[in-house]
Amino acid sequence: MISFKNIKLFLFLTSFLIGSSQDKSTPTEIWEPIPKVVYSSSDSAPPNDAIILFDGTDLSRWNAKWSKKESKWKINNDGSMTVVFDGSGGIETKQKFGSVQLHIEWKTSEDVSHKNQKRSNSGVFFQDRYEIQILDSYKSPTYVNGQAGSVYKQHIPLVNASRKPGEWQSYDIVFDAPEFNSDGKKIKSGYFTVFHNGILIQNHVEIFGTTTNVGQPEYTAHDDGPISLQNHCCSQITLRNIWVRKLD
Ligand code: MG
Repeated sequence: MISFKNIKLFLFLTSFLIGSSQDKSTPTEIWEPIPKVVYSSSDSAPPNDAIILFDGTDLSRWNAKWSKKESKWKINNDGSMTVVFDGSGGIETKQKFGSVQLHIEWKTSEDVSHKNQKRSNSGVFFQDRYEIQILDSYKSPTYVNGQAGSVYKQHIPLVNASRKPGEWQSYDIVFDAPEFNSDGKKIKSGYFTVFHNGILIQNHVEIFGTTTNVGQPEYTAHDDGPISLQNHCCSQITLRNIWVRKLD
């Protein structure tokens, strides 16, 4: 029969054992600083600490790349914008950024008369230099280090997650900016991690230098820079819901 005395002994031993195990684990518990609370209503909606670069309303956070004037890219009634091949060199943010998390949605053209790099080619450039390729790569061959989701001419995507022309797609990109010392020497490479339609396609890959179409990439020292979107012939590309979170 279980006596009151035995129950008391049981409770004492239990609390002693838990207590001694807690004492051992306590030194490795970190309580501060407490991570900031950030809220997001969905996987694609901007979290409440994001900087919204395009919400379908206007291009007030962007300039035409070469003229630095207001962009004439077309704003559509459904909250998207369509790239206009206006010889502007694309658009770039007025704000400069270092390391960031970026979300962008894009839709390639159902006009598939063009091939290879001419089919809905655009790209997201970080610090005005490092490109993640946007392209119609759905059953549309090109050199694989230049297909959708490539770090252009530096890293082939792990898989081809492309959807059909006319279907919305997304990139979630983590850009870890390179660092340079006061003499202009690189002290840390940049890195990219990229999800295409929620699928990991670049897993913390090292950036070898400024994106180039000819020759090998090289680093040149720079500070924070704008995020830019490429204007490249020939079939159209439509974009929406672009936001960024600063990581430094
Ligand atoms: Mg491109």
